[in-house]
Amino acid sequence: MLKIENLHKIYGKYHALSGLDMTVKEGALYGFVGPNGAGKTTAIKIMTGLLQAEEGSVLINGKDALADPDQLKSCIGYVPDFFGVYDNLTVGEYMSFFASCYQLDGLVARKRYTALLEQVDFYVDGLSRGMKQRLCLARALIHDPQILILDEPTSGLDPRTRVEFKEILEDLKFAGKTILISSHVLSELSEMCTDIGIIDQGRMILEGNIQD
Ligand code: ATP
Repeated sequence: MLKIENLHKIYGKYHALSGLDMTVKEGALYGFVGPNGAGKTTAIKIMTGLLQAEEGSVLINGKDALADPDQLKSCIGYVPDFFGVYDNLTVGEYMSFFASCYQLDGLVARKRYTALLEQVDFYVDGLSRGMKQRLCLARALIHDPQILILDEPTSGLDPRTRVEFKEILEDLKFAGKTILISSHVLSELSEMCTDIGIIDQGRMILEGNIQD
C-alpha cells in the first residue's frame, strides 16, 4: 500500500536520510522505530508531502504519490509530533475548521466529527495532554483517509492514557486502516504492531513481520 524507495534528504551538508526503503502492507499496524535523530520525522514529513526529498519515491497503491499532492492529501491522515491545537477554538470549531480544509461542511461535517470524537472517547471540554492527542487523531481522520501516519503519538502520555490510545489504534486497524506509527521505544510498539521497521542514521536496518 505504501512503499518508499531510496529516499535521500540532506540538510545543508548533513544526510538525514541516506537511501531509506520501507514497505507498509495494506491493513498493517507498522511500527517505525529508531533512536533520536535517526530520521523518522524527516521520512514522515516527506511521505505526507510536507518536505521535499533530494531523491527517491513514495508510492501509494503503486502510484507516485509525490507527483499528485491532492491524491496524497486525500489518502493520508497525519498526526504530527506536536499537537497543533489552537487555544482560542472550541473542540467543535477545531474539527469544523479541519473538515472545511477537506471541503466538508454543514451537517455532513458535523455528523462525521461527532462520530470521530465519540470514537476517540472525547466528550468533555477541558484539554489534558491525552485529550489533545485524541483530538488530533480525530482531526487526522476527518477525510476518512486509507493511511494514518502518527509521529511519536504516545510520548508524554501516562501509562493508562497510552494503553487507551493503543486500543483506539487497534480499533482503527480492525476497521481497515493502514497505520504507521513512529517511536524510539521498540517495546512500546512490539505489543501492538503487525510489522516493524528499524531506522538508524537515515537507513532502514531491519524490516519485517513482528513474529519474525
Ligand atoms: P526524534 O526521535 O528525536 O524526533 P527523528 O528520528 O524523528 O528524531 P529527525 O527529526 O528526522 O529524526 O532528524 C534527523 C536528523 O536531521 C537529526 O540529526 C536532526 O538534527 C536533523 N535535522 C532535522 N531537521 C533539520 C533541519 N530543518 N535542519 C537541519 N537538520 C535537521
